[in-house]
Amino acid sequence: MRLEYAPAPESRDVVEIKPSYGLFINGEFVEGGGTPFKTVNPADEQALAEVACADEADVDRAVQAARKAFGVWSALPGAERAKYLFRIARIIQERARELAVLETLDNGKPIRESRDVDLPLVAAHFFYYAGWADKLEYAGFGPAPRPLGVAGQVIPWNFPLLMLAWKIAPALACGNTVVLKPAETTPLTALAFADICVQAGLPAGVVNIVTGAGETGAAVVNHADVNKVAFTGSTEVGRLIARSLAGTGKKLTLELGGKAANIVFEDAPLDQAVEGIVNGIFFNQGHVCCAGSRLLVQESIRDELLDALKRRLGTLRLGDPLDKNTDIGAINSAAQLAKIRELADAGEREGAERWSPACAIPERGYWFPPTVFTGVAQSHRIAREEIFGPVLSVLTFRTPAEAVEKANNTPYGLSAGVWTEKGSRILWLADRLRAGVVWANTFNRFDPASPFGGYKESGYGREGGRHGLEAYLDV
Ligand code: NAD
Repeated sequence: MRLEYAPAPESRDVVEIKPSYGLFINGEFVEGGGTPFKTVNPADEQALAEVACADEADVDRAVQAARKAFGVWSALPGAERAKYLFRIARIIQERARELAVLETLDNGKPIRESRDVDLPLVAAHFFYYAGWADKLEYAGFGPAPRPLGVAGQVIPWNFPLLMLAWKIAPALACGNTVVLKPAETTPLTALAFADICVQAGLPAGVVNIVTGAGETGAAVVNHADVNKVAFTGSTEVGRLIARSLAGTGKKLTLELGGKAANIVFEDAPLDQAVEGIVNGIFFNQGHVCCAGSRLLVQESIRDELLDALKRRLGTLRLGDPLDKNTDIGAINSAAQLAKIRELADAGEREGAERWSPACAIPERGYWFPPTVFTGVAQSHRIAREEIFGPVLSVLTFRTPAEAVEKANNTPYGLSAGVWTEKGSRILWLADRLRAGVVWANTFNRFDPASPFGGYKESGYGREGGRHGLEAYLDV
């Protein structure tokens, strides 16, 4: 059933998008040597701006600028570096509305999420790591932990500014300088961040942003004068990077894909579990590495839970991401939409039952309705492969042991969720689930003080918390 509502559009005018953007190298915006590319609003397929493409020579200039700045930046007392990071955090808060609108235009995510989730977490991350900058020698790393040098960082398109914050805040707090490459479909908030670095008076070369596609990313990670590589993206590209860095002595952290199980026991509070399932897989259109894409429900409550879930999905609003009432925004790109469609079609072909609530799909843009597959077997592609879209695969279990076995039956190990009233069962499962994060009676909860990262093919290294500093220090 659709609910009546009045559209409440956020104003697009709070952000000024320039017709074209350069690379940010050594504190200045400069032209790139590659062929410029367009970034598109996925909700209407209109180009937002033309963006420079960095070739190898540009990446080399950025790395040289970062190397030169490293001398100055790493020699500053931690308390001085902290002042810059606090200043950046405050500017992000002051410009939060503009940045949220820009993120929503470039990515397609609902404004409610960029405003209430992404931006507060971005600022929180800079505040949190600012607090560490003058306390590194007390962090248990020994008396004089040292920064590594120049960090080459490559990030995906699902949380563009938040992934930037996860990468840049700890690197800078420890005294490193960075060359960061945002994803080619969402470069605009990283370029706005470059402007914030200028506004904060950050010394030139401490942060460099090079835009472009995979080739630019490869030039960053393979540059001989980069000391540390941090990559968030697909397991496929993560594997390529691990191979190409073998034997180079560069430190590497990889945050890759996932296929998380959200496990609901018969004693779980049903309404709360339904909200957790919805948040787990439909938040950010399911473009979430730790999305609860496999629902494991105890057989005894399967039908009751599915009925409640379907009723709830009938109330979700898909549409204009700038409308404050929108729950499901646009899929980030035509390529991602094609991938989701291919896997959903494979689900049907392999015999699973497909269901979506009745919802109108806008004529222009990239859209995919919230989708639930029942009758899913563990061998089905939709139970094994990361879809990275709003598609839930439902499986059942009878005993806690069977739940653990099914949850762990994946090459990934990023996260899991457990819903039960029984505290001892939560601890029993948390001990046995092979996942970097186990949420209990909640899902997709983040805090800069908590380390985040994967087991198995979900990658290695941790971001966030005190553990996130380890990746950027020699101890
Ligand atoms: P992707 O691997 O295609 O691209 C990620 C980034 O790598 C982009 O900036 C891209 O331009 C760049 N890139 C592509 N080829 C490269 C190469 N050969 N060398 C260096 N850089 C290269 O992934 P995507 O489609 O942008 O993002 C989706 C994936 O990211 C999903 O698998 C998701 O699970 C994962 N992800 C993981 C986390 C985490 O914390 N574990 C967080 C967000 C996303």
